Amino acid sequence: MESKTCCWICNKIADSAEHRIKKSDLVNLYGSGSYKGENSVVLIRGGQESKVQGPNSKIVKYKKNLCSKCNNEFSQPFDKSYEHFITYIRQNKDLILKRRFIDFQDVYDDEFEVSQRNLYKYFVKSLGCRLANDGYPIPKDLPALLPKKQFRTRLRITFAVSEDLLLSTEIKTAGKGNLKTFAPGSETRPTWLEKWQAKKQGRTGPLEYQWSENFEWLYVWYWYNIIPHGNLGSTWIADSRYVYLGSYEIVSDEEKQKIV
Ligand SMILES: [Zn+2]
Repeated sequence: MESKTCCWICNKIADSAEHRIKKSDLVNLYGSGSYKGENSVVLIRGGQESKVQGPNSKIVKYKKNLCSKCNNEFSQPFDKSYEHFITYIRQNKDLILKRRFIDFQDVYDDEFEVSQRNLYKYFVKSLGCRLANDGYPIPKDLPALLPKKQFRTRLRITFAVSEDLLLSTEIKTAGKGNLKTFAPGSETRPTWLEKWQAKKQGRTGPLEYQWSENFEWLYVWYWYNIIPHGNLGSTWIADSRYVYLGSYEIVSDEEKQKIV
């Protein structure tokens, strides 16, 4: 039997499951389904491949960790801002890549101040659902900022271009990176010994998280309580008209020669 989980935003009973990969992203990339034959879509997680039947398939959803009010009504403006942002990214790829910055006024017109904040809140929702799905502690500032106009938070976001994915016109991806957690001040995951020592010494400092998600060539990097890596773009906390894009590359030039 499934145990009752609480909505990580409002603490009521969670009866709603957020998409891991946003439904609109799946439809944008692969159509409305079903994903069969030539249109087949594969989800790769932990090295395992699973077939996705359609954009509402259970395997592209998290466990139920929101209440339906928070997942629908409350966060609808956040979802809408994200969908609008992705439409803009798809329609203005050449311009964005030439400038290597995004001007939110271009994206949202004069509503950009509110809309860029709603976009940021969409990313907070995305991270919160990821953490809740695997039982990671959710920093209190994340749900607390969602209803607010002005807030303080330890979550910074940066945007970067995946130079590898830019090269490929064949591969269409949307996905989430591995979640990395760090003990405060450490470069690596805490070992059980470090956790035990920290607990014994009463050190329960805030956790640090690093995560990423991508829509095609655009990567969104999450830095919770960590200073962002400068290569991966300018820091944004819903407080700016412009974001400057970083550059992300894992395939070396030598390896690319072999592929092309
Ligand atoms: Zn709720």
